[in-house]
Amino acid sequence: MKKKQKKSFNKIFILIILFIAIIGFYKSGNIDIKVYAEAANNTVNEETNMKDYIILVNKDNPLPDDYKVELEEYDNHLVSKDIISDLDDMYKNAKKDGVNLNINTSYRDKKEQQEILDRRIKLYVQEGLNKKDTEEKALTEVQLPGCSEHETGLAIDFSNPNKPEDNEPMWNWLRENSYKFGFILRYPKDKIDITNVTNEEWHFRYVGKEVAKEMKEKNICLEEYLN
Ligand SMILES: [Zn+2]
Repeated sequence: MKKKQKKSFNKIFILIILFIAIIGFYKSGNIDIKVYAEAANNTVNEETNMKDYIILVNKDNPLPDDYKVELEEYDNHLVSKDIISDLDDMYKNAKKDGVNLNINTSYRDKKEQQEILDRRIKLYVQEGLNKKDTEEKALTEVQLPGCSEHETGLAIDFSNPNKPEDNEPMWNWLRENSYKFGFILRYPKDKIDITNVTNEEWHFRYVGKEVAKEMKEKNICLEEYLN
């Protein structure tokens, strides 16, 4: 009996040491990853008890100032940690079909968003557009800071600047398959009048598998889904 007790004590001891070692390894491996908050703001759906990822972010619906997202690195880019597992699944399944997914942009903060908008406006000014047209045109392509989905960590621009020939197959595959992993093409060509955003073949947004499937089947965009 005593021997048995000692054995199980040893087992527990080893488990505790293992646990500490795993935590230590995890922490040291993530040291350079920016974690902005303990929990994301995504609400929990009472019916399914799952997190909702259907937050609408556009020029009329800016993110709340206190919106926080816990970020983690995937493929050298920061995304919401909540989407990592589905994103990884999607990468692996695309690979099986001979498609190499590549993230060009994912999370960016308000400051980066402002810089992108400023650059775009400057470009159009250089092209000779007047101020009003410049801003209007730029804002159909670049969202105001606080109004970009990229600030949620749930949006990803897929493209490969180093291998542009990969882009077309990548976008075709994503358009057909990304819903299985909870992602939707956010600004489809036939919904420009609703989203007010030009067709961005590369911009995919995580909404969760159930919602993505429903949107795909009904061919509706997020604005339509939420209405
Ligand atoms: Zn984008």
